[in-house]
Amino acid sequence: MTKRKRRVVVALGGNAILQQGQKGTYEEQLENVRQTAEVLGDMILSGDYQVVITHGNGPQVGAILLQNTAGLAEGVPAMPMHVCGAQSQGLIGYMIQQSLGDVFREAGREDIPVATIVTQLIVDKNDPAFQNPSKPVGPFYEEEEAKQLADERGWSIVKEADRGWRRVVPSPEPKDIAEKESIIKLLEAHIVPIVSGGGGIPVIKEKGGLRGVEAVIDKDLAAEKVAEVVDADALVILTDVNGVAINYGQPDEEWLEELTLEEAEKHMRDDQFAEGSMKPKVTAAVRFVKSGGEETVIASLGEAEKAIKGETGTKIIE
Ligand code: ADP
Ligand code: MG
Repeated sequence: MTKRKRRVVVALGGNAILQQGQKGTYEEQLENVRQTAEVLGDMILSGDYQVVITHGNGPQVGAILLQNTAGLAEGVPAMPMHVCGAQSQGLIGYMIQQSLGDVFREAGREDIPVATIVTQLIVDKNDPAFQNPSKPVGPFYEEEEAKQLADERGWSIVKEADRGWRRVVPSPEPKDIAEKESIIKLLEAHIVPIVSGGGGIPVIKEKGGLRGVEAVIDKDLAAEKVAEVVDADALVILTDVNGVAINYGQPDEEWLEELTLEEAEKHMRDDQFAEGSMKPKVTAAVRFVKSGGEETVIASLGEAEKAIKGETGTKIIE
């Protein structure tokens, strides 16, 4: 019997697609994705891993929402957020598919197929998050305009320190993945799957069917759910810092090589990790290991190869 290759879910952060300060043109994004594809390609071409790719979509879905709003003046109906999320999965999946395919073609390995799955993540319609919208999405507005939009469209809005007003949507917990069988089948067929982009499209179960909802699932928590359903050995979260620090940004900042579940939970209680950035990553890391996964690695995109071998970044283990 041949041993199964190490199965790894790689979660790409925003910087894999768009760098800080860039405008977000197609050319810029493609250039970033091509660099990311080199990293992922090397990993896959080594033959040591079965890789599942997942990614964020913040700036991309933000742009789609703005394009939708701009279209209203031309009589083009705006699409709901979950549809915008689906669009962003296609847009980003396309760039990764093409770029990774090119890396394989250049290596003479056009036999490795890559495929994106439009992925729906099932959330509980009674999730308390629906009572407490907290995830900011889309552009900043002046107070008056924000309040008018809130009235017209039933949005929840919040003021973000100094930067203006923004729409907030619920951020419910991912419970299951509608396309999990498809993802597993692709892996078994040695196809590289790109799944659950932007945290997946949030859907609820209703009258026996699925229905999209106006919400955003955290992409790191969604990646963890993917890792669980494919029975991954490792979850690798690649971002713009090379791991987890305590006292982050303080003079006594300390970068950690390894974190046990117990340590991770203690630091979490001590508020060491910022909401919406490092906290969901550490939460995902802890959940994955608790669910029976071997390890979660949090590292910077540039260090991906070493991180996967456990040579850099922060490793969260039991
Ligand atoms: P991504 O797009 O990869 O999800 P995020 O911005 O959401 O990126 O998360 C990464 C950021 O988390 C880092 O740039 C860093 O500023 C921030 N961060 C917050 N707390 C910590 C911490 N304790 N250790 C390391 N990074 C932290
Ligand atoms: Mg993030």
